[in-house]
Amino acid sequence: MALKSQVVLKDILKTYFGSLKAPIAWCTSVGPAEILRALGFEVYFPENHGALLGASRLAGKYIPKAHQAGFSGEICSYLTADIGAWIAGETPLTALYGLKSIPHPDLIVFNTNQCREVDEWFSYFGREFDCPVVGVYPPRYLEEIGQHDIDNVVVQFQKVIAVGEKVIGKKLDYERLKEVLRLSRDGSRLWKKVLDTAQKKPSPLTFFDGVILMAPIVILRGTQTCIDFYEEALEELTALVDQKFGAVPDEQVRIYWEGMPIWGRLRSMSELFINNQATIVASTYCNSWIFDDFDPEQPLASMARAYTQIFINRGEETKLAMMRQMLDEFNIDGVIFHDCKTCFNNTNSRFGLPKRIREEVGVDTLSIDGDLNDLRFFSDGQSRTRLETFIEQLKAKKQDAGRKSNV
Ligand code: SF4
Repeated sequence: MALKSQVVLKDILKTYFGSLKAPIAWCTSVGPAEILRALGFEVYFPENHGALLGASRLAGKYIPKAHQAGFSGEICSYLTADIGAWIAGETPLTALYGLKSIPHPDLIVFNTNQCREVDEWFSYFGREFDCPVVGVYPPRYLEEIGQHDIDNVVVQFQKVIAVGEKVIGKKLDYERLKEVLRLSRDGSRLWKKVLDTAQKKPSPLTFFDGVILMAPIVILRGTQTCIDFYEEALEELTALVDQKFGAVPDEQVRIYWEGMPIWGRLRSMSELFINNQATIVASTYCNSWIFDDFDPEQPLASMARAYTQIFINRGEETKLAMMRQMLDEFNIDGVIFHDCKTCFNNTNSRFGLPKRIREEVGVDTLSIDGDLNDLRFFSDGQSRTRLETFIEQLKAKKQDAGRKSNV
């Protein structure tokens, strides 16, 4: 069943893309969008375009064009799909929203809290558009985050502000920044509540709903539209919980998805899990846009903390602790690690974490090979077999545990 919120979202996206008029700033998905909005820019997110290319199955057409332009086949396939589409002079935004081209930037801002690839990607477009580019380079892979780390990032945000003021021709209004950050904080809290409805058994939503519903917290963070959307979505999901509606009929096992979505296979993967009575109820990915620490009274410092402490930017011990909490809160039976070929940054199966989850947390895991956009790295047949076998094992283990507890 499609959620009503997903239908509402279509109109919201249409309005958003239709309203992208200069001055426009490009920003990474976990970059300081609030500063850009408060300065008066419309904000556009190339990663959202990358995901759209994947979900609309156009990435395979454009990725080779980026390869021909010198970009490796083994680097971020958001980057290669996006640059390839630009080289081809095409975008799905034309058919979907009537845009002639991707929105042209007046300023480009990125934050390497997620990866260094965004530096190369956004700098390429800075050259293409002869446009100012400002990078924020926070300390990476932190276990603890100290005051000196926060101070470091605040100074870099001040540089974003200075360049932004120059481009837009006026000073940042700090009261406006506080207001935008309050909107972001409230939107983020509502997004968390939406995701947390999946703690209920059965869950009213799955990971595959989540990756659609997350669009506003990525591209409309800091707006009233984002808040209104999640208030409605929460109301809808709460009603479904009250009705004991399960997004997956006869939910038998509950799964955590670790890593990137496989955008070109959302529908078939969703069907696979439905057909096997398994619900992906939680994920690192959807939770990455929960920013608990936004504080409008300390806008720059709290943004620095919130954007630096995201999962992808943490050390392995912290990642384990964060996952342990989620696995407990969502009553998870098994974890699927997506070993994403072109995004090692969002791949956490390569340094022993699955083994530690099994041994230290006591939850079964499976790792599958794939990619966010480049389907050459994903085998439908092999993945299906491995996923179905894993789900069967989880079911058998639960049944066995149920029998023993009845003895
Ligand atoms: S985190 Fe991964 S998918 Fe996202 S931009 Fe960086 S390399 Fe690409």
